[in-house]
Amino acid sequence: MYTMENLNINHQLTTFNRENSDQKHCWVCFGTDDDEFEGSRDWVSPCKCRGSTRWVHQICVQRWVDEKLKENSSIEAHCPQCNTKYIIVFKDVNYFVQLLNKIDKTSNQLCPFLAAGVVVSTLYWSAASYGAITVMQVMGEEEAISMMENTDPYLLLLMLPAIPLTLVLGKTIDWEETLLLMIQRFTSNLPFLRTIMPSFLCEPINRVNSNNPVQFNPVISPTTTLCAALLLPTTSTLVGNILFDSSSYSNFQKTLLGGLVYIAVKGVLRIYQRQHNAIKDKTRKVIDYPDSESEDGHQLNIL
Ligand SMILES: [Zn+2]
Ligand SMILES: [Zn+2]
Repeated sequence: MYTMENLNINHQLTTFNRENSDQKHCWVCFGTDDDEFEGSRDWVSPCKCRGSTRWVHQICVQRWVDEKLKENSSIEAHCPQCNTKYIIVFKDVNYFVQLLNKIDKTSNQLCPFLAAGVVVSTLYWSAASYGAITVMQVMGEEEAISMMENTDPYLLLLMLPAIPLTLVLGKTIDWEETLLLMIQRFTSNLPFLRTIMPSFLCEPINRVNSNNPVQFNPVISPTTTLCAALLLPTTSTLVGNILFDSSSYSNFQKTLLGGLVYIAVKGVLRIYQRQHNAIKDKTRKVIDYPDSESEDGHQLNIL
């Protein structure tokens, strides 16, 4: 079995050892004109190399090309010595096969774009449908339909998919974290605030003096963010209908108020949770391993 390295070494050896020889020598198999085997008469001079490395058996150089193309079928095969690109020709196939090959090649080039187009348009229409459903949910069906009928269709095609996009982007803004940091800064400046909010007595942000502060926030996965963002209109409508169950509000106002209440309550709970997690993080401590001999029979309560 010929490997790439073997062939390279063969090639160089041939160059050095047989520099002044007139006889044809194959730099792959070391064969000469005198050696007889199948294909031994079929010589080729495929590159700019002259002298002893000029000649190579057709079957031997084919093996070299095969090795090269096995690594990467898109690259070309070169002479390992002079780096000349081998000129490789094929026997002509008939027009029908040529046409079939061309169709294959073209479809291979086009299909990635087509597939991407299908994915993008699927996402677009899903987003647009979601937008339309959300508008109906928030404004009420009749109002939404009349509004959409009176809006420029092109504007609608832009606005409807923008609804879920805005919701998701809005969800990625971590306003709770910013607010938490602000509260923490305020409470350290204004001592009386600490008496109102005892849980802010600690200043967990200043705890770690390393450059790599410990992450105490719960990790929220992208799918959770996506679901929470897309469910926000539904939740807002629900909260709005429960809290503001009066005919003096329109559907839109109810959803808006419901959404604000929901976001505010959730924000407060999140900040509370984060602060207490931060305190838990601050109180972390590694303790002595209990000596089982001296505390014989004592039940250990390890976390
Ligand atoms: Zn050979
Ligand atoms: Zn060469």
